[in-house]
Amino acid sequence: MTDIQIAQAAKKENIVEIAKKLGLTEDDIEQYGKYKAKVNLDVLQKTKRPNGKLILVTAITPTPAGEGKSTVTIGLTQALNKIGKLSAAAIREPSLGPVFGMKGGAAGGGYAQVVPMEDINLHFTGDMHAIGVAHNLISACIDNHINSGNALRIDITKITWKRVVDMNDRALRNIVIGLGGKANGYPRQDSFQITVGSEIMAILCLSNSITELKEKIKNIVFATSLDGKLLKVGDLHIEGAVTALLKDAIKPNLVQTLENTPVFIHGGPFANIAHGCNSILATKMALKLTDYAVTEAGFAADLGAEKFIDIKCRLGGIKPDCAVIVATVRALEHHGKGDLKAGLENLDKHIDNIKNKYKLPLVVAINKFITDTDEQIEMIEKFCNERGAEVSLCEVWEKGGEGGIDLAEKVLRAIDNNKIEFNYFYDENLTIKEKIEKICKEIYGADGVVFAPATKKVFDVIEAEGLNKLPVCMSKTQKSISDNPALLGKPTGFKVTINDLRLAVGAGFVIAMAGDIIDMPGLPKKPSAEVIDIDENGVISGLF
Ligand code: ADP
Repeated sequence: MTDIQIAQAAKKENIVEIAKKLGLTEDDIEQYGKYKAKVNLDVLQKTKRPNGKLILVTAITPTPAGEGKSTVTIGLTQALNKIGKLSAAAIREPSLGPVFGMKGGAAGGGYAQVVPMEDINLHFTGDMHAIGVAHNLISACIDNHINSGNALRIDITKITWKRVVDMNDRALRNIVIGLGGKANGYPRQDSFQITVGSEIMAILCLSNSITELKEKIKNIVFATSLDGKLLKVGDLHIEGAVTALLKDAIKPNLVQTLENTPVFIHGGPFANIAHGCNSILATKMALKLTDYAVTEAGFAADLGAEKFIDIKCRLGGIKPDCAVIVATVRALEHHGKGDLKAGLENLDKHIDNIKNKYKLPLVVAINKFITDTDEQIEMIEKFCNERGAEVSLCEVWEKGGEGGIDLAEKVLRAIDNNKIEFNYFYDENLTIKEKIEKICKEIYGADGVVFAPATKKVFDVIEAEGLNKLPVCMSKTQKSISDNPALLGKPTGFKVTINDLRLAVGAGFVIAMAGDIIDMPGLPKKPSAEVIDIDENGVISGLF
């Protein structure tokens, strides 16, 4: 059966029943039909119980198909509930771009999925729309300000705020706006990015309250003035209006797994130019309302887990208690160019980072595919045992929660036995340059960092504006631990090149660009849009 067929066959419970499992009443939620709800933010203050433990699901360096982080996240929370531990997952919202492009949706797979799958992948509760409109309100006000006399002296060649749409549409990467004469605005070059790449998305995910959301929106830098001053959304006096558009989007969404256990799906920032994690608020809710919150971070442990720890956890004041590293035979063979044993080097580096750099107890989860042989599995298990890393064969894709009980038990044991005190990876008092160097050398294993000449000016601005305390958001290829996608396994003898730096002052981080990142993806030659369909009864097919 395909993922969507499994999802459509699920026996869903009314969302009120799912909320009850979290100790919530009908008054605590806003229902969006029978199977989706938004949870009111006041439950965080109202609920008087100690926070649960936080489990981060991360992965080895993936192949483009994805190695099953979402699947394992959902399967692990199903398994924890199965053995009597109240648990909820907190994961990201899918973007429409990849749904109609190549990667498909993002609601797990096989018997470890979140439902209603079609809704989650299509419009869900409208968060993406609200974020897009909030973003574009700023864009419209910028151009309106220029057209109305430009009192702020916005330099139209230095506007960094783009427009957004939630679609993969390469034709919108570079455009000209304001054509048609004076009444239609001022002609200038502009561009679109996909909605999930918006700084508003990152801000929504990093805000702990509506007040903080508004403050961060106020701080967004959208352009430089003709006098060289950074211009902020607060200068346009529209932070209140932009925040008002997000009044519902800021509330975490509640849905369920195939096994009727609770899942928060909220926020989905890019994992390169942003930090790639679901919202702080959803993770905090899962922590407040359950004993074990299971969450994931985009891409592999060098990129996603580092940003999860140094950006999300730091800004949210939360700490992880354990990490699960998802590994697959497919990706390990890819790293060894067909040789599984050689490919284990990649896993080795990620284990080393989590254990010795992030100082977290860990369990390696081998996400089992039906094509994997016993020999291959044993080779990975033996490697982990020799390395002193706990390992579990995870069969949640095939068997649901039942297939993740061993993993759940090992995670519980790792948490209970842990004696190491967690700390963020770098000290916030290091300068931006020092933070970048520390990440590249210690996490990626680089010999050094080369800063391109273009970064000099931005470093000067960082210094002048007092931004050195901000965390760094590394933006690099997910295909390698290095900044070169061709270097597989555990690369050594390389230097990382930082081409450019971007300020995301609203979100509260500085983006270090190691390589070119496209923030408006294109569709592939044969997009999924050609296979997605709906019948007379409204039944959708072709989503995966
Ligand atoms: P990630 O979160 O790492 O990107 P996902 O969990 O979204 O990965 O999985 C990517 C795709 O791979 C999904 O379509 C999922 O159904 C499929 N998949 C994941 N695990 C397995 C497995 N064990 N066997 C077969 N397919 C799998």
